[in-house]
Amino acid sequence: MLSRTELGNPILRKKAKRVPLAYLTTAEFTQLERDMVRTMRSVKGVGLAAPQIGVSLRIAVLEMYPSTSRPNIDSRGPLTIINPRVIEYGSRMVADYEGCLSFIPFRGRVSRSQTITVEYVSTEGELIRETVSGLWARIFQHEIDHLDGMVYLDRMSTMKDLMTLAEFRSRVLPISRKK
Ligand code: ZN
Repeated sequence: MLSRTELGNPILRKKAKRVPLAYLTTAEFTQLERDMVRTMRSVKGVGLAAPQIGVSLRIAVLEMYPSTSRPNIDSRGPLTIINPRVIEYGSRMVADYEGCLSFIPFRGRVSRSQTITVEYVSTEGELIRETVSGLWARIFQHEIDHLDGMVYLDRMSTMKDLMTLAEFRSRVLPISRKK
């Protein structure tokens, strides 16, 4: 199993390479995909991009499910997206807190499009185009940013909206649960 890379590792700041479709039929890809899902789940993440385990390829895995911080969401995934790109960003922006598996003990408030249209290749090599919204759209945007060498800190309008996980749990979560 590959180990996670953390903030400060130059691979997280590199633009990841496009995946040739022939790679999807290799045992190496199957193993990589398995490692990515396993790593994401081992730290209870909702998404992981390949550079986050040291592989500079345009691949990400996404999975969401209800949790204590988000009890009312639907379960989606696990979904593997290859060579994804955002075709269209919806104009309605929503601000919410995000975490990242490359710098776990923080949460930052990031404004993202509520709805986006994305295009990606599935593990079967099929080109998929779909419109997604809400938290699922936020995860897509966060993971696609990783493939371009960006982290959510780069999307924050002010660092005053950055906090530790402990402060987030005591200050923000009790309020957002009441909503
Ligand atoms: Zn991340």
